[in-house]
This record gives sequence, structure tokens and C-alpha cells, in this order.
Amino acid sequence: MAKHNFIGIGLVAITVIASLSWGHIKHPTISSITKTVDVTNVVSGQEVKLSFKESYSTTDPNSIWVIANKKLALPNGFAPSDLVVPNVILRLENTSEQMQVRLVIKADLEAMFAAAKKEGHSLMLSSGYRSVAYQKSLYDGYVATQGLASADRSSARPGHSEHQTGLAFDVEPSDKRCELLQCFGDTPEGIWLAKHSSEYGFIIRYGKDQEQLTGYEYEPWHLRYVGKNLASELVNTKKTLEQYFDLEPASKY
Ligand SMILES: [Zn+2]
Repeated sequence: MAKHNFIGIGLVAITVIASLSWGHIKHPTISSITKTVDVTNVVSGQEVKLSFKESYSTTDPNSIWVIANKKLALPNGFAPSDLVVPNVILRLENTSEQMQVRLVIKADLEAMFAAAKKEGHSLMLSSGYRSVAYQKSLYDGYVATQGLASADRSSARPGHSEHQTGLAFDVEPSDKRCELLQCFGDTPEGIWLAKHSSEYGFIIRYGKDQEQLTGYEYEPWHLRYVGKNLASELVNTKKTLEQYFDLEPASKY
């Protein structure tokens, strides 16, 4: 049998929006960084084309590629302007702030939940958007009960949480098995998500054995939207967002 070696060179142009002060008016200007990704090989023995071209900012909080981690905070007081409640099973009342996500991810989120359901996995939205005020109360609560070091491994300080972007959410089985516990990753629902979430544009943001890179313990329940192309690229290359964009590891503030 012929042996196939495949080398895909992906060029990703990252658009960085910078602001130029000009008198009293701020004029946005655009500069581009070209990122070259060399990917050798193959997923499951099949040649997969990994290159794609897309451009989004990694610093604009409204961009689907925005990075929020322990090194990079969101702009002070940022709140998305297009929050909606997705049509899926919700853990809380639909009036709760946490049951919202950004409109840009609603259709893909609903399609993913529906596809899981079709295969017998009943998923529930556990926690989506969190305002900076709510994140503060949550984080302060963890610090009070667990201490600072433990709180920082599992909860973001206000201004540093992906939940504040409206692009990330926690998920759990509707019967609450392994609710926000690492054993969720071994449930049929967790296994299904790890395998299929990228098809809908989501990644398991805080992977196993990635704490030195991401700053967080393995969280098989925390999904982050980045779009389908980048999601499959990250799964195929086993890279974190930080690695992919050549950012410094975000293990500490
Ligand atoms: Zn989360």
C-alpha cells in the first residue's frame, strides 16, 4: 500500500485592529500579521487539509478569536451587545444572565445540542455569559472558601474570564452527572463533545495536561467558540489558543 505523507502549510492572516489617536478622534487602523502553520500528517490515517484563510482580531473583545486569559484581560467593563438565550435545555430560568450567549454562536450551539440529542446524549447549558460583576462575586466566593491558589486554578479573576465574552459556556448532562467535575470527560456526553464539538466551531478550551499553558485545570465541560476552521485546526494540531497564536503561556497572572 502506498504510504501517504501529507504536509499542509496553512497561512492564517491575523488581523489586528489597532487604534490610533489623532487629535480627539480615534481612528481605527488595520495591520496584518501573517501566521504560517506547518502541519505534518494526518488524522486517523486520512489526509486532511488543514489550511484555511480567515482573519479575526485576537484583541477585539467582539471577535470570535479574542483571547482572554491570565495574561490578557478584556477591556474594562466589556459586555457584548448581542446576548440571546439559546433554544436548548437550560439549568436556570431563561431570565438568568448566565443562560445567555452571543447571537453569533447561537445556531451552532443549538445544532450541536440537537446532534448530541440525536445520538442519545441530553446536554444542558450550565453557565454561559457572566458579567464582570457576577464573575467578581463568583471568584471572591472561591477565594473565601478555597484560598487564592486553589481559586485561581479553577476560576478566572474578573476581567479575565472567557464567560464574559459570551463565546464560552459550561455544559453538563441534563441529569447533572459529574456536574462541573473532571469525570464529566468520561461520561458518554463528555466523550461525544470531545469528539464532535469542533464540527460546530467549539473547542474544549482547558484540555488535559495543558494547565501550564492555559492556567486552568482540565475542564471537559468548558467550551469556547472559535469557528469551525480554527476549531478543527486546534483539535488536529492539539494546540491551545495560546500556542496557536504564539502567545506566552498563561499559567499565571
Ligand atoms: Zn467555564
